[in-house]
Amino acid sequence: MKGYRVAVVGVTGEVGKTFLKVLQERNFPVRELVPIASARSRGKKVVFRGEEYEVRALEDFDSFKGIDLALFSAGGSTSKEWAPKFAADGAVVVDNSSAWRMDPKVPLVVPEVNPDDVKWHDGIIANPNCSTIQMVVALKPIYDEAGVKNVVVSTYQAVSGAGAKAVADLLRQTVAFVEELKKRGLSEEDVSPEALEELFKDLPPAEKFPHQIAFNALPHIDRFFDDGYTREENKMLFETRKIMHDESINVSATCVRVPVFYGHSESVSIETEREISPERAREVLRRAPGVVVVDDPSKNEYPLPIRAAGRDEVFVGRIRKDRVFNPGLSMWVVADNIRKGAATNAVQIAELLIKYGLI
Ligand code: NAP
Repeated sequence: MKGYRVAVVGVTGEVGKTFLKVLQERNFPVRELVPIASARSRGKKVVFRGEEYEVRALEDFDSFKGIDLALFSAGGSTSKEWAPKFAADGAVVVDNSSAWRMDPKVPLVVPEVNPDDVKWHDGIIANPNCSTIQMVVALKPIYDEAGVKNVVVSTYQAVSGAGAKAVADLLRQTVAFVEELKKRGLSEEDVSPEALEELFKDLPPAEKFPHQIAFNALPHIDRFFDDGYTREENKMLFETRKIMHDESINVSATCVRVPVFYGHSESVSIETEREISPERAREVLRRAPGVVVVDDPSKNEYPLPIRAAGRDEVFVGRIRKDRVFNPGLSMWVVADNIRKGAATNAVQIAELLIKYGLI
C-alpha cells in the first residue's frame, strides 16, 4: 500500500489512543504503524484498523530511519530528548508537548489559523496547548473582521487534559463518593456543607491534582510563577501571539480544572480594534473553518462539553456585546481537548504536510 510509515510515541496515553482513532477516521495514508511508549508498556497490544500491533519502547530502536512521520504525545522531557533523533533520521515530528512550542525555529500551528507556517519546519512542528488551540480557532475570524487588542479568558478544563491518571482520579473519587453516601445511608435531605465535608475526608486522594477534583474547581493548572500567573495561563498568551503573528495581542487568562471528563470550556471576552455586532460575529464564525455556532439561548442552546466530547470542531455560542470592552464581544468556546486540542490538530498538521508535499 502507498502511504507513510507513522510512529505514534505515547500511544498508550489519552492523546496517543485518540491519535489511532483519528488517523483511522480521517483515512490518513498510514502504510505502517509504529506504536511506541515507555518501557513499562513494552509488549502491550494496540489495535489499529482492526490489526493488532505490539508496543515498543523508544530505547528498543537503533535508528528511526524509514519513519516518515512521528506523532509525539509522551510528555515534554521525552520530546526534548527523542524528537531531534527522529528528525535527524529523516522523520517529521509533530509534537504535542510544550517542549518546542516557543522555540523560534519550530512552527506552532493551528491549521485553521496559520497553515503556511508548516512550510518552514526543520524537522519538528509543535502542536499548541489545548486551551490555546480552541481559543485561536474562534478568535481568528473575529481578528480578521475587527482586529483583536485584548482578551480576558477563564477556562473550565476537563481532567483528561492532565492524562489518563487524572481521568482515573475523577472516576475513583466520584465512585467512592457514591459508595460512601450509600454506606452512611445519606439521602438528599441530609446533604449539607458539614455532611459533605465529613464525607469528602474519606475520598481517596487524587494522584494528579493537589486537591480533591470531584465536586470541586481548581484554579491551578501547571506551575505558578512569581507574578501569580500559572504556566498554562502564560501559554495562552505567548502561544496566541506566535500563532496569530501578532505580538501586540494581550491575553489575561485564569485556567481552572473542573470535574468534567472530556471537553474544555472557555469564557472569552475580547476587546476588538473596530466595532463588530454579535450578529456579524455569528456570521463570520459560521463561515469559519472548523467552527460550529451553537447560539440560541431561547432554546437553551449553547456549547456544552458533553456534546463536544468526541467531536473535532470548536463550538461557539453565547455571543454578545461585552459590557466592559467597547468595542468588544463575549463568547463561550468549547472543544474536545484530546481531539481538536491535541490529536486532531496534529493529524491536520500532518495532512498539511502531505498537501504541501513536505513528507
Ligand atoms: P498520558 O495519558 O499520561 O500518556 C502519556 C503517554 O506518554 C503514555 O503513552 C506513556 O507511556 C508515554 N510516556 C511517558 N513517559 C515516556 C517515556 N519516557 N518514553 C516513552 N513514552 C513515554 O498523557 P496524555 O494526556 O496522553 O498527554 C501526553 C502529552 O501530550 C503530554 O505532553 C501532554 O502535555 C500533551 N498534551 C497535549 C495536548 C495538546 O497539545 N494540546 C493536549 C493534551 C495533552 P506508558 O503508558 O508506557 O507510561
